[in-house]
Amino acid sequence: MNNNNINFSFLAEEVKKRLDILEVANQEGLHLKKTGRNYFAHCPFHSENTPSFSISPIKQIFKCFSCGKGGNVITLLAALRGVKNGEIIYQYAKAFGLINNSKSTVKQQQEIQLRAVKYEFKRREEKNSNEVYRFLCDQVHAFRRAMKQAENEEQVSGLQKFYQIYDKLPYYIGLLEDLDGINGDNAQVKAYFEGEELMQEWNGRINS
Ligand SMILES: [Zn+2]
Repeated sequence: MNNNNINFSFLAEEVKKRLDILEVANQEGLHLKKTGRNYFAHCPFHSENTPSFSISPIKQIFKCFSCGKGGNVITLLAALRGVKNGEIIYQYAKAFGLINNSKSTVKQQQEIQLRAVKYEFKRREEKNSNEVYRFLCDQVHAFRRAMKQAENEEQVSGLQKFYQIYDKLPYYIGLLEDLDGINGDNAQVKAYFEGEELMQEWNGRINS
């Protein structure tokens, strides 16, 4: 299996977003009982008489107060199935359609990331359409701040890679246009011009 081209930390985050640790633990056969905010069960990694294995649905983590084992939904699945974390990430990323096969190219990676951003937007849009605007602005501002401090071409291309905002901008703008009329304020318009301005700034930097 050649996973060299796969950005595992990115995929891990995307997989985590799509899995609920409590749901997973139930599916894996753990008998959890609610105590306060958390859920308790007998630890699946050793035998014990009183349940010391806990899950926090809010923090999306597990912790055993007896053996000390703890982690997130990915490390839990890996430990329960006796495989490496990477294997779980790979399996679920495939199941969620985040990767097609083990030989994804850089272009496919970008498509995956774009799909993930789209997913994130949808999630936020459902929650509150204003958050979409805030998310966009956060990204644009962070990118712009970093760009101002960039001292050479190498840093500029590194930043572009890091934020991937240049590729995403047309999508952001399209999405904000779709949202037009939902917010009822000028958020979309502001974001649009912000995006335009940033693109010009960006093109200027590349061409100079
Ligand atoms: Zn334990």
